[in-house]
Amino acid sequence: MSLIVQKYGGTSVGSVERIEAVADKIEQMYKDGHQLIVVVSAMSGETNRLIGLANDIDTMANPREMDVLLSTGEQVTIALLCIALHKRGIGAKSYTGSQIKILTDNSHGKARIREIDDFRVKEDLTSGHVVVVAGFQGADETGNITTLGRGGSDTTAVALAAALKADECQIYTDVDGVYTTDPRMVSEARRLNKITFEEMLEMASQGSKILQIRSVEFAGKYSVPLRVLSSFEEGPGTLIAIEEGNQMEKPLVSGIAFNKDEAKLTIRGIPDQPGVAYKVLGAISAANIEIDVIVQNVAKDNSATITFTVHKSSLPQAEALLNEIASDLGALEVDADNRIAKVSIVGVGMRSHAGVAATMFEALSTEGINIQLITTSEIKITVVIDERYLELAVRALHSAFELDKPDLNDH
Ligand code: ADP
Ligand code: ASP
Ligand code: MG
Repeated sequence: MSLIVQKYGGTSVGSVERIEAVADKIEQMYKDGHQLIVVVSAMSGETNRLIGLANDIDTMANPREMDVLLSTGEQVTIALLCIALHKRGIGAKSYTGSQIKILTDNSHGKARIREIDDFRVKEDLTSGHVVVVAGFQGADETGNITTLGRGGSDTTAVALAAALKADECQIYTDVDGVYTTDPRMVSEARRLNKITFEEMLEMASQGSKILQIRSVEFAGKYSVPLRVLSSFEEGPGTLIAIEEGNQMEKPLVSGIAFNKDEAKLTIRGIPDQPGVAYKVLGAISAANIEIDVIVQNVAKDNSATITFTVHKSSLPQAEALLNEIASDLGALEVDADNRIAKVSIVGVGMRSHAGVAATMFEALSTEGINIQLITTSEIKITVVIDERYLELAVRALHSAFELDKPDLNDH
């Protein structure tokens, strides 16, 4: 008998019919003798609908109350799924995040899980119940309801799998696995049988919204075997696993991620002196604005330019702060651009191969796409380009690295 944590995303539970289909799937697994913990998202569109309702009253709503509101989406699904399971003669019990004691910190809207009290879940599993848990939510030390950030049900599932030492954590969604890039953008994208935690983490942090970043971090940290599968069709899905050291020929690039959520800020004509970068970027961080790509250049006249990216929603605040800093430092100018896109190629094979960057830049230049910024890590190269060329860039890179062709090592 194995213990499996399954998570069903919004589209997978998007209607009463879909919830019944999920109940059928669970019934089958249950009858095969598995112990099951099922984490569900809100029905598709529900979280956005709730945000819309709050915005109709006040776009600056209190974060604590936003969490109380948003957590209701998942609460509806757990109850409906249990009703569907009871109809099939299966003992099932639903729990919200605070009931099961998913203890988080108190950062409303982006809370982090600290601890899970697994006592009740274990008791229910032992007495033959399927345990159904509302994803995306927990409670802080004083019992305030918190949410884990968009896509957070993935993290609930992996955290439960880690806490209960499950044999596998299965993420059921509307695609049949992790693809070389978003199949909605490139129809030639190919499903990967396997991807490493490291690669998946880069893909997620560079914009592939298939898994929430924190869920991959958790899975890597606690070695939770993680699989992404479709709830609409049968298939092996994609296994996210530890890198096997002895593969002779790893693919150079495993996947392409992209992101249109960032904006670029540039401050020109600042002194090339110690402490200046700190003054510029420190003030932005102190305002709790997350900074992503950072590039600094020094011109012949010893004046420096710093360019960095922030989330589009933080642009007005970051630009206002940068203008203040610019007048303090006597800078030449500040420039903001929110029509940018970030494209990243990711692959552990890059570690041992030269020339990957050259292939990337050649493919972009053949399409006449100008590169505005470049940043790299050991297994990733990211470029910032004009957002108008995003799709062209992703397609060009997908074919330059032959990602549409079956890979011999990918088995
Ligand atoms: P869920 O509601 O089940 O959590 P999401 O919408 O969060 O589903 O994630 C699934 C979506 O992720 C897919 O429909 C797909 O468009 C998108 N996606 C982005 N990048 C990839 C990728 N590399 N492979 C597969 N799907 C991807
Ligand atoms: N319902 C939440 C969202 O839409 C959490 C999730 O689906 O994972 O972001
Ligand atoms: Mg999701």
